[in-house]
Parts: sequence; structure tokens; C-alpha cells
Amino acid sequence: MPPRVFLTTPPLNMAETPLQYHRPLAPLGIAYLGAMLEDRYSGGAWSQYVEKRVQGKVAHPYASCGVVRALDNMRLSFYGQYSYERLRSQIADHATGAKEDELFIGLSVLSDGMHDARRMLIKLRREFPRAKIVVGGPHATFFPDDFYSVPERREGPLADFVVRNEGELAILGIVEGKFDTPADLERNAHRYGINPHACTYHDDYRVIDGGQYAAPAAGFGAHVLDALPPPAYFLFEDESGSLPYEPDRRYGLQAPAANINSSRGCPHKCTFCTIPMLVPGYRTLSAQRILQLMEFLSVQYGVQSIFFREDNFIYEGGTIAGSRWNDVEDFCKELKKRLPDMKWAIEARADNLVQPTPSGPSRIAHLADAGLTGIYVGVESASDAMLKLYVKGSTVNTMSEAIQACGSHNVAVVTTVCYGDPDIFLRRDYPLIDDADDHYKFNLIEQRERILGETRAFLDHHEIPLERREEYALVGIPVSAIYKLLDRERVKFPALVESVDTESRYLYPKGFRWWANAIYDLKRRVRPYVSYDYRPPI
Ligand code: SF4
Repeated sequence: MPPRVFLTTPPLNMAETPLQYHRPLAPLGIAYLGAMLEDRYSGGAWSQYVEKRVQGKVAHPYASCGVVRALDNMRLSFYGQYSYERLRSQIADHATGAKEDELFIGLSVLSDGMHDARRMLIKLRREFPRAKIVVGGPHATFFPDDFYSVPERREGPLADFVVRNEGELAILGIVEGKFDTPADLERNAHRYGINPHACTYHDDYRVIDGGQYAAPAAGFGAHVLDALPPPAYFLFEDESGSLPYEPDRRYGLQAPAANINSSRGCPHKCTFCTIPMLVPGYRTLSAQRILQLMEFLSVQYGVQSIFFREDNFIYEGGTIAGSRWNDVEDFCKELKKRLPDMKWAIEARADNLVQPTPSGPSRIAHLADAGLTGIYVGVESASDAMLKLYVKGSTVNTMSEAIQACGSHNVAVVTTVCYGDPDIFLRRDYPLIDDADDHYKFNLIEQRERILGETRAFLDHHEIPLERREEYALVGIPVSAIYKLLDRERVKFPALVESVDTESRYLYPKGFRWWANAIYDLKRRVRPYVSYDYRPPI
């Protein structure tokens, strides 16, 4: 009897997404896991289907082998439709006819989803006592021992397997029962590309390090992701067989829409960002593979817009050698021929957008000419001093140049801005600061108001409309460089951290409340629960 695998996510923690953050997108992390399992148990039928569909050799919908099913609770919660009862009944339905120990429940957890994930896992444990529970995602990667009812005492394990890093290889070995005991792991790990010495077992609580899929030692893996099957989009179809994801119209995208992840990682070192620790290096899909996915989404679902939701679409100039630009240029040339009406949007760095090209036209001109309608650009601050503290690797002038270049090619820019106190980075250098001193407090507020005023003036000057401004109060997200700094320095300077969330492990630096009030309240478009005290109901 083949196993039954149910993949899901906790609902979104809206407290952390106070503004108009990305619309819900197909959760491609679990879509890739689903594709690996689907191909394994169908003899590669899913990959073959995608290929034939693009070639026009099949026209019928895909009939899955029935091993995997999924539920996107992030999308449901965005529309207020999440319910644990729906999740429970879909899992029970999927398990019908299978023995309970043939059921695997996989949960991908971001740190801000930990509150809900824990409560969800407690209920799933109770209601499916013999199912094997597998957790993965960023929180599992950084804090693999958090999935107990009482983590400090390792009491009440809430998972049977915790997968650190990427799960495409690990999930196969887990579902095939090859990693159940330390002896099994030792015997089988290498067949699945797993390093057994990076895994730890504590009774029946198994931590498997899945590694970074196909990552080369040199750090830049051009096209290595082509070895993955196409993500299993079919897992997220609605009753009519369509993909239920709305386009983010701020980028000029239109329905029907879908998202693709054409690269993994970002080897820059922005101090507020968790990606350099989570996904070091840079790996890509080839232009041909991206085009195949776009053509598939176009013929299968009528998709007219693609959002490339990944950290850095055009890598260049970071901490490892290599550039993706030549690939991007090839992709643009082919896209114009094969899907001339497709609209698309990317995330990119300002400095990578303004580099000259050997072929003449600017990078923005190449991209816009191939249908690019929007870019998500991390501006972060209009203060060069803050950009240095963030180790952004760009200047305010470069940000300005990139935004203007986009404007002159009718490419919409959605900006992120991140506000925090500059002196949290320098606290160790000024150990005698008295946090209660009135002069210090007065100067600090003056400094905050100057940063806020300059940054808002920059956005106004570049005519960025309100809905295209993503403004955030700085948070120590595990395990960004700022998180590590706060965690280390708070021992000596407790006032450096305003609040600690023991579940998500977020560290809220001093000034968070001030910045959150200034940014979120004043914009009058906030949800009332933008606060580190907020606990969403589940
Ligand atoms: S903020 Fe962007 S450019 Fe900086 S490290 Fe993160 S993903 Fe890379």
C-alpha cells in the first residue's frame, strides 16, 4: 500500500505583515516536496505530463497518483477562511483506506508561524496518534529542538522528524521508511544525498539535515535546480481546476496569475535579513526551464502574469563570484518570442538593475522590453549611514538611479523600507550610555524623526504611491545578523531589547514600539493587532 502524505502550512501571522505585503502565493516549498513524492510514486508521470502538455501532446487535466495532498492555510487565513476543522477533515479524508502508520503529515513553519504551528501540532498529535509528523522550513532549520510541548525539558515531542534546510531529498527517505532508526540512517543516508553526521536522533525525535539541494562547493550553481521536477501546482487547484491566486496588481500584474521560484539564496549580507544564513550561495533554474514552467502555467491555467517570488532574481556583486545577468538576458530574448503577452515581476537589488550591459540597452530596458511590469526593490532607508549599518551594499544615489530608470520604462516599483534605531548597532562601542538620560532620549527621538522624514521625502520625491511603500519597524528575525547582535548584546545591555517572543524567537529591539506607532498608526491603514503582544486566535 503506498503511503499517504498530507502537506500544509500554519495560517499567516498577520501581526507581522501589517501593510500590504505580498498577496498569498502558491507555497512552492511544499509544492516541490509534493512534486518529488508524486514523481517517485507515479514513475515520473508528473514531470512527463508537464513536458507533454507544453508540447501540446496531452490536453486532459493531470490525474495524480493519490499519494500527496496539500492545503494552503496561508492563503485561507489571508481571506479569514482558515479553520483547523477543515484541515483535520481533509487529512482524515486523505488517509481513508490507509493504515494510520502509513500517514505522514508535513508542516512547513516560518518562525512567525510558530505560535499557530505548536497549537496545530498538539491537536494533530492527539487526533492522528500513529501518523508520522514531519516539520521543516526556516524555524526547523534554525531551532530544530523547538518542536516539543516543553522544549526546555524535551517533553512531549510534537514531531517525529524535523528537517533542517531543504527537504526534497529528505522527504523521500522519510516516507520510504529509510531513516527510522540511527542504523537505518547510517545505512541509507548517502543514497538520498543526506549526510548522516549532520543528523541527530533523540529517542523518536529525529533531526535530519536535508542540506541545500544540488549546492556546488563554489557557491554559485547555475542551472542546478533544473534537476528538480516542476513544482506540483496541481496540489493547489480549486474545485474548478484553476489556481486561486490573485495577482498583485501593484506590479501591473493581471489575472490569472501564478508564481515561480527560479533561484534560491542570496549571497549578500544585509544585516536585517535572514536569507544569508538560511540559504547561503546562489542556485538557479536555466532560462529554458523557466520558460517551460511559464508555458505550462499558460496552457494549463491560462496564466497571464508571473511573479518571481525569490530573494534576488539578478544575482551579482555579493560575497561569491558570478553573475546571472547573461542568463537573464537570454531569458528575456526567448520570452519575447515564446510568450510575448506575458506580464511578470521580480525582486531585485537597485545596484544590480543599474549595471551597464555589454549589448547596449540598459538592464531595465531589456527587462521591460520582455514584458516586465514591476520590481520589488529594497530601498531600506534614505540615509546612507543607515544603509551602511544595514550592510546594504548600495547607496541612496543608486536607489534613486534605479527607481528613475524603472519609471522611464513604465516599470512599477514597490519599495521596502526598514526603520530602526541606529545606535543598536553601536551599543557595544558606547557602553556608558545611560538609557534613562533625558538628553540621550531627546537626541534619539530627533534622530528617529530625521530618518523618518528623510526617507518619506525620498519616497515622495520619487513619486512612490502609498500602496507601493512597504514600511517596516526593524525586528531581529532569527537568525539575521541583527538577531545575533541583539541576542549577544542583550546580556550586557538588557535595554537593547524591548520584547522577546519565546515562541517565534523574534527579538524586538529598543525603539520598536516607537517606530511601529510612527509607521503603522500614522498611515491609518493598519490592522489593530500590529504589536508583539498580539496572539492570533486559532
Ligand atoms: S535583503 Fe535582499 S539583497 Fe540583502 S541579503 Fe536579503 S535577499 Fe539579499
